[in-house]
Amino acid sequence: MSRRTSNRKNSNSLPKVIYVKLGRTKPERLKDGYSRTDFGQWQKGLIKIDPRQNAQEMLDTIVHEVLHEALEELTEEGVERVSGMLSAVLWREGYRKTSEGKERA
Ligand SMILES: [Zn+2]
Repeated sequence: MSRRTSNRKNSNSLPKVIYVKLGRTKPERLKDGYSRTDFGQWQKGLIKIDPRQNAQEMLDTIVHEVLHEALEELTEEGVERVSGMLSAVLWREGYRKTSEGKERA
């Protein structure tokens, strides 16, 4: 018998997510994989998401920034690899943002 424990059971310990424009222009992927404007930004406990991105990019951005919060020691490349795969599989399996984006109790 196993027991799963988590220090993040309490939603108060989850990072806050806010939606704000992060640059003059909407974030766009360039050929080299970089972007002029951030899709998202992370600082301890707070994730900022630029709302000017499609639902699939937004899922990837949120997973990416949460991974920074969860594993601060991970390199940017490591975060990219894990978040890219996680968000791609979640998207393929049909996970989508609902209109409110909040879980209904
Ligand atoms: Zn990053």
